[in-house]
Amino acid sequence: MKALVKSEAAPGLTLTDVPEPTIGDREVLIRVDRTGICGTDLHIYNWDAWAQKTIPVPLVIGHEFVGEIVEIGADVDYLKAGDVVSGEGHLICGRCRNCLAGRRHLCKDTAGVGVNHPGAFAEYIALPATNVWKHAPGISRDLASIFDPFGNATHTALSFPLLGEDVLITGAGPIGCMAVAIAKHAGARHVVVSDLNDQRLELASKLGATVTVNVSRAKIREAADRLGMTEGFDVGLEMSGNRHAFNDLVDNMAHGGKIALLGIPEPTVAIDWNKVVFNGLHIKGIYGREMYETWYQMTTMLQSGLDISPVITHHFSYRDFAKGFALMNEGSCGKVILDWSQ
Ligand code: NAD
Ligand code: ZN
Repeated sequence: MKALVKSEAAPGLTLTDVPEPTIGDREVLIRVDRTGICGTDLHIYNWDAWAQKTIPVPLVIGHEFVGEIVEIGADVDYLKAGDVVSGEGHLICGRCRNCLAGRRHLCKDTAGVGVNHPGAFAEYIALPATNVWKHAPGISRDLASIFDPFGNATHTALSFPLLGEDVLITGAGPIGCMAVAIAKHAGARHVVVSDLNDQRLELASKLGATVTVNVSRAKIREAADRLGMTEGFDVGLEMSGNRHAFNDLVDNMAHGGKIALLGIPEPTVAIDWNKVVFNGLHIKGIYGREMYETWYQMTTMLQSGLDISPVITHHFSYRDFAKGFALMNEGSCGKVILDWSQ
């Protein structure tokens, strides 16, 4: 089968033929229809320091996808050929304290599809049946293909109650933009979004941001003042991984404000801890999605009118993957989808 492989320890990816995966008794084989390019894939493509220490070579990469089940293992009785599914990208141990308690997103031994386990940028992928989410009828293939990052946005945005709250989102990448729409859907009053990239801030506006702030030339505080917010933001969602953005959040929260951190910063970002302590801030780290409460919430939000479709800005055939990665490197896109059906 065709697959996009990190075939050597160097920048780029190779489109090549690899053997089709075979499945175990508790696994399913899925014919991949569409895949999303994630920031993680870009790190692997560019072969940055994180990728160099994390990715075993060779590896089929990719983890955002939708496809159809074509074969089920002998012990799988609740899925069938033809089911339209996506995969939860975190493989968990099933045995640690958190797994046994049902907090599977907090497994201590998580492995990543397309990171240290064969991925989805291929015509077929094999996954444990317990890692498969069967889509409800009516969910479009495009949206189904990005349930993984949509799940990051959902898990982060719904970490704290949002009804009537004022929300600051730092980072208008695809995940930040989806979080805007989710926060509005969940009843937030104002959703202010910061970034340095005007194109991405425009996308955030399309997804419902009340106000956007390009922090290279304006201050978040001024935007909040103009909205009549005298006490700061109730909820902050960090979705950039940038050290200045985290400080922007800490500086602009109301006392008692709640911050969820999804963006992956350098390990040693300095913040003024006095502001955290004296302002009584709550800070929560977010990894992945809740299995499978987040997946359920994504489905029901789409069924109750949430529209995140503008976040998908480009489609390419998998053969043109390099064009997709180039756009991602420029930052001149939202989600980029690769089509594996043609
Ligand atoms: P992205 O890189 O496409 O978007 C990040 C955005 O932040 C960019 O538009 C960038 O211009 C902006 N930015 C940079 N500096 C900024 C600043 N000072 N203030 C405001 N914005 C700034 O990323 P994405 O795919 O949307 O993902 C968002 C973040 O979440 C990334 O850091 C990613 O690594 C992380 N992530 C974490 C998890 C997890 O499980 N914790 C999962 C997926 C992604
Ligand atoms: Zn575990």
